[in-house]
Amino acid sequence: MFDNNCQVCASRVLIFPSQVTSLANTHDGIVVTFTCWCDTEQTQVTGNADRAARADAVAA
Ligand SMILES: [Zn+2]
Repeated sequence: MFDNNCQVCASRVLIFPSQVTSLANTHDGIVVTFTCWCDTEQTQVTGNADRAARADAVAA
């Protein structure tokens, strides 16, 4: 379970494992694809690569 700031719902919602449709390991991190409560397919990047990119952005 994780939270998602949905632009369609215009709110922060919880996404449950049953809503996840795919996981993909990419160079930029783990891309999680899921169906939000508003029935739109969305993605969120997570994992070590994403954290490193965010740390670089904060340091810059
Ligand atoms: Zn939504």
